[in-house]
Amino acid sequence: MQLVFSRFGYLICITSILSASIILLEYGFSELEVLLFAGIGSVLFTLIGEFAVPLYKEWRPNFKENFFPDASLFVLNYIVFQSQLLQIFLTTIAIKFAGGGFDIWPSDLNIFTQLVLALIVSEFGLYWFHRSCHEIPLLWRFHSIHHNPQRLYWFNATRFHYIDVTLLQVCGIVPLLILGAEAKIIALVTIFSTVHGFWQHVNAEQDQRILNYIFSGPELHRWHHNLKPEIANHNYGNNLIIWDHVFKTFYWPKDNSNELKNVGVRGNAVNTVKSMILDPFKG
Ligand SMILES: [Zn+2]
Repeated sequence: MQLVFSRFGYLICITSILSASIILLEYGFSELEVLLFAGIGSVLFTLIGEFAVPLYKEWRPNFKENFFPDASLFVLNYIVFQSQLLQIFLTTIAIKFAGGGFDIWPSDLNIFTQLVLALIVSEFGLYWFHRSCHEIPLLWRFHSIHHNPQRLYWFNATRFHYIDVTLLQVCGIVPLLILGAEAKIIALVTIFSTVHGFWQHVNAEQDQRILNYIFSGPELHRWHHNLKPEIANHNYGNNLIIWDHVFKTFYWPKDNSNELKNVGVRGNAVNTVKSMILDPFKG
């Protein structure tokens, strides 16, 4: 069971939820309903992993420091502000004002091929926005909220400042809109990102081997959360790790040394919901 989960859990979860999502979209379920199904499904998978094969028992969340602030940001970002819908709306308007897309998206290809293509194209925007967050101090003020916790678990996936997550997702969607991808393909990329995000932060043993050269999975992303900037400033990929290969920021030392446990950011311990939301504006 442990071996199966650490080697294949990620792949089984992603392929089964994505396939089910494609079928549900074909049957006429709304994008939001399918997104909800995919989100709940992937959380259940990651919870099973964290319970059955935890990587570090000391990374189990504590209510006051982790679960409460994470749940509060989740409710604000995804329920109160309706982040995902707003981003798609804003970017569509922006592209229209900019003269419309090029309408060169290969919509006649089968849906799996379109999804692979869309993930590669979208990841280019995601990579450069995420890298900018680590290299431009103004953006880091917002992004450091995501890096602040000293432990990783599934719910870190949605722990973002609203400005940070909105700009990130806009950067992922804009390249697809410019090329003229259909709403269904954009929805599938969003669903993939949601499922993958929970996995990326999971506190469960993982042994994904060759997949780590394609996907930006948990074994790579733990290094991106390292306390030392010289280690953390790698593996910027959100879903795929391909642009990190191209721009030479791929990092995978393949050892589970104590350094791996060393996550968080220096000098940023403020964890109340109010300060997480307001402090980035103050500098
Ligand atoms: Zn980051």
